[in-house]
Amino acid sequence: MIFMAENEARDIGVDVNPPEEPCEDKNCPFHGELPVRGQVLRGVVDSVKMDGSVVVKKNYFHYIPKYERYEKRSSDYSAHLPPCMDIEEGEKVKIMECRSISKSISYVVIEGGVK
Ligand SMILES: [Zn+2]
Repeated sequence: MIFMAENEARDIGVDVNPPEEPCEDKNCPFHGELPVRGQVLRGVVDSVKMDGSVVVKKNYFHYIPKYERYEKRSSDYSAHLPPCMDIEEGEKVKIMECRSISKSISYVVIEGGVK
């Protein structure tokens, strides 16, 4: 067991700026016990209406060989939002894969204000 200063953000093993505010959410990767692994995705926050979670939209291009063009596609991801992060709609964020927190949520927001 590693002891650390109270409320100090844990190193989650990914190169991100940890949140400055502390929180008491056990599903927070920085201040709680939620392990994160797998994919890291960047996207734009589409909705913050739900309590404690956000919808992140990822836009990408898909190549169509017949027309030698790209078409726009997008995927929506529901992600858990720890209370220590202050995220607004339209903000670019990084989300990371974690265990399933609920039926449709298996990602957690790990960084806001991504350029
Ligand atoms: Zn936190």
